[in-house]
Amino acid sequence: MITVEEARKLLLDLVTPVDTEQVPLALAARRVLAADVAATRDQPPFAASSMDGYALKSAEVERHAMLKVIGEAAAGHRYGGQVGAGQAVRIFTGAPVPDGADFVVIQEDVERKGDLITIRNQPGDKSNIRPAGADFRVGQIISSPRILRPEDIALLAAMNTPVVPVRRKPVVALISTGDELVMPGEEPGPDQIIASNTFGLKAMFEEACAHVRLLPIARDTRGSLATALDLASGADLVVTVGGASVGDHDLVGDVTSGLGMERAFYKVRMRPGKPLMAGRLNGMAMVGLPGNPVSAMVCGHIFVLPMLQKLLGLNPQVNFHRATLAASLSANGPREHYMRATVENGQITAFGDQDSSLLSILAQANALLMRPPDDPALAEGNQVLYLPL
Ligand code: AMP
Ligand code: MG
Repeated sequence: MITVEEARKLLLDLVTPVDTEQVPLALAARRVLAADVAATRDQPPFAASSMDGYALKSAEVERHAMLKVIGEAAAGHRYGGQVGAGQAVRIFTGAPVPDGADFVVIQEDVERKGDLITIRNQPGDKSNIRPAGADFRVGQIISSPRILRPEDIALLAAMNTPVVPVRRKPVVALISTGDELVMPGEEPGPDQIIASNTFGLKAMFEEACAHVRLLPIARDTRGSLATALDLASGADLVVTVGGASVGDHDLVGDVTSGLGMERAFYKVRMRPGKPLMAGRLNGMAMVGLPGNPVSAMVCGHIFVLPMLQKLLGLNPQVNFHRATLAASLSANGPREHYMRATVENGQITAFGDQDSSLLSILAQANALLMRPPDDPALAEGNQVLYLPL
């Protein structure tokens, strides 16, 4: 059986970055920037006032000085003339500073009577002027690849980028398998349960910028599974859930081999999630996740999300954090164990019951505490690694 790390490497070998597309700026949030974007203008494009006040010559700024107001500059409306000796221009935040002026006295420091102002308080040294290009200059770059956050979108807008080059959303076809499954909202028979995994995984993959096609549940027959896999064609990645073990009704391995899948591996030394298979099927990457709900979600985090990152041109990574054990842990077995846990203020506590069918505990957890294979018993106070959920 291979290790988690080996499995992840083989899985990443199954995918290559998807191509790029142009999207309107208003639709670019959470997408992955695919090429560097350069500013096409300076910001601000002119020296601008950062305050409401009066623009004048700094050499004339002193307490009790009296100046004549000769015009006004507002945001979007410059004063076209020149500021001369003894003169000032009424100015507002964002307005271009008029020629001849190199200082803005804030209005609170000034008394105005008609066209005359008197500087009442010592204005200090701060000019209250933002130089042209103070924020960014033509050619300044937002580098790719990156997931575009609202902050990046604001900067792209300010740089005058109406259309943004992003990676196309990788298409993931998701298939639940099992005679016992019905869709949420349907009336389950007495021996049936509701398909949950594909919904949790859909949410997870969409959060990671995938386009998810939720295919009909495949029944535990070769025909039904083959039909579902056929419907998946054209996807970048097919993810099946369940039917991957060695039981009589676990047909995913058989059926995919029959369809010509080149298998990369089967079974990983981890808990939960041992029966994981992967390979290449009809030009698509294929991952067969175990059916137990927690196993499926954990494997989604550990294996499928890095594949999506690579498909999106990002550097695939699983970012572990550190926390201090708030309660002791018994020795781990030979498999890497991902334990549902809660972390708060740097203290982490694993749940007592780690059965891989318990979604309610997964939903209460905010961390997956990672135990390396054969990790000895750990007393409270030890440092451990975890993945935030
Ligand atoms: P399997 O891997 O098909 O043997 O499934 C293992 C366990 O996970 C069984 O108890 C299944 O009923 C359950 N299971 C499989 N697929 C799903 C699913 N999509 N949603 C919820 N439970 C599932
Ligand atoms: Mg099954």
